[in-house]
Amino acid sequence: MIGPPGLDTVQTTPEAMSEPVLQGGCLCGAIRYRFLGAASSSSTCFCKSCRRASGAPAVSWFVGKLTQLTWLAGQPTPYRSSELVIRTFCNTCGTPLSYQHRARPDDIELTTATLDQPEAMPPSEEIWLSHKVAWAVSDSRLRHFSEENPGD
Ligand SMILES: [Zn+2]
Ligand SMILES: [Zn+2]
Repeated sequence: MIGPPGLDTVQTTPEAMSEPVLQGGCLCGAIRYRFLGAASSSSTCFCKSCRRASGAPAVSWFVGKLTQLTWLAGQPTPYRSSELVIRTFCNTCGTPLSYQHRARPDDIELTTATLDQPEAMPPSEEIWLSHKVAWAVSDSRLRHFSEENPGD
């Protein structure tokens, strides 16, 4: 799926054009992004920081390289949620958009639920279950980790 013509002029190679292209954005539409290619992982996080940052009991994230991401409209506002972590959000509507950890400077995580088609990026694991709110629903079919996935 490719966005409307004329929205941007990023060049793509023939190989890249056969890869999946996803688009997403915030609630008010001020911020739009495109993600090209496959994600390296997709998970749902129950940690306290994600909970506070989103106002929801859990947040699903997919991970890719910075080079796979293009901001098509607007620029998200950064917030340093801990010494090593920068989260971003839309400063008009508040939608959380991205997460970057200083230990992985080439990677970026994006909130799966901001995709136009979140069904395209189902989570394969749940992390930080040690922080899970008792009533929050967990999916027993997914791989479970009490903190981070040590393999990531
Ligand atoms: Zn917005
Ligand atoms: Zn988290």
